[in-house]
Amino acid sequence: MKPSDLPSDISSDLLVAEASRCVACGLCLPHCPTYRITLSEADSPRGRIALMGGVASGRIPMNARFALHIDRCLTCRACEAVCPNHVNYGKLVDGTRAMMLASPSNLLKERTVMRKSWFRRWAESKLITKPTRLDALRPLVRFYQKTGLQTVVRKSGLLGETGFAVLERQLPHVDLPFAFLGKKRAANTWQTVYPSTGHPRGEVGLFLGCIARLTDAATLNSTIFVLNHLGYTVHVPPTQTCCGALHQHSGDVHTSAQLARQNMKAFDGLNLRAIVSTASGCGLQLTEYPVPVSTEEQRSEEPLQSQPTENFSSKAMDISAFLATAGGWGDIQVTPLPHKIMVHEPCSLRNTWHGAAHPYALLARIPGAQVTPLAGNDQCCGAAGTYFLDQPEMAKILLRDKIAALDASGARYLATSNVGCAMHIAGALRDTGLDIEVLHPVTLLARQMVIKN
Ligand code: SF4
Ligand code: SF4
Repeated sequence: MKPSDLPSDISSDLLVAEASRCVACGLCLPHCPTYRITLSEADSPRGRIALMGGVASGRIPMNARFALHIDRCLTCRACEAVCPNHVNYGKLVDGTRAMMLASPSNLLKERTVMRKSWFRRWAESKLITKPTRLDALRPLVRFYQKTGLQTVVRKSGLLGETGFAVLERQLPHVDLPFAFLGKKRAANTWQTVYPSTGHPRGEVGLFLGCIARLTDAATLNSTIFVLNHLGYTVHVPPTQTCCGALHQHSGDVHTSAQLARQNMKAFDGLNLRAIVSTASGCGLQLTEYPVPVSTEEQRSEEPLQSQPTENFSSKAMDISAFLATAGGWGDIQVTPLPHKIMVHEPCSLRNTWHGAAHPYALLARIPGAQVTPLAGNDQCCGAAGTYFLDQPEMAKILLRDKIAALDASGARYLATSNVGCAMHIAGALRDTGLDIEVLHPVTLLARQMVIKN
């Protein structure tokens, strides 16, 4: 890919213009997780912006050292949230990564982020972009877990310290679509429509995600259950795909735009009040969908019936935000849960979506629950898409702080709204033997709901 093939909003002129909006005040520095670890200006937002502006203008070479500092960035956007000059850091770093990927130099071979195993390359191209294949894998994974093979593999250390082993350690119990509260309505994929069971209040689309549809069926099932009982019919278009965030943040803007287009098509023509996401990282990506990458690509695509990017993106909502203003709660009874629930605030929800208050409001519906913010919520947990695989040392330091905060909390539950963070933290809790259940706020609430038949 040549730089000239990049979308027009990733031109070097625009990157230079965005970088030049930074007045180098340094207010973002104490909020940056990587700066707090290395104390290096090059690992701070201000330093990275200077580097990105320098490279985009041709003053600084795009070399391996530059790539190291850009790759170390978590894209947590804590810097963006506090910047008084509203520098759009997210766009700047995504654009820079797209330029790095398009660079004709040997840089690509040197980049740590590109040292992926064959398994990761295969998974990203064959599974993540075609998530129905993950449904096909579900029976296999469940067999692996139910027969005790997983326990044997974990105890044997057979997988060593590979990236695959890291992923396996994070694998939670894999549930079936709509296997919920013991009801045997389970199948290997979701129905296209789940009609409301309460007083009808409208239609909602459910975004499944890619990995989440395999590893977090519990949250997706709970979401359908809660929405149905509040009176919302839930549509689950079968042709939806991955949100494209992983590709976008690694610079692969073409794949990201193709996935965006497929999702817009999948939900096109439905009369929806909202398109809800249970993973804040994916949901945020839906709200920031780019326009198609080139006019040529646009011409080759069939036009959408009724939902251009703006319409689709403006309907995307985090499930907790939607439920905060949803009707029907007067008909729902919730049983008490006299336990401490710590709330982890994913960066996507806190720094960019500014929706960190919604999970607290949702959990406040559970009588007796002590809902408390987890100490250090202003710092990323280190999961950050595939960051935990690409930068394991940095990710471990950030994760260690979360586990220490949980250990000191005395909590029984940790509620988090992003599946990547949930798997990252739950895996470490299992390793340390701490008995804290990690789950989505909507799952906890659904468990406590009393349904009168
Ligand atoms: S807070 Fe904004 S303007 Fe100040 S150094 Fe950071 S990015 Fe630049
Ligand atoms: S996105 Fe996060 S890690 Fe990257 S510079 Fe900003 S605060 Fe630091």
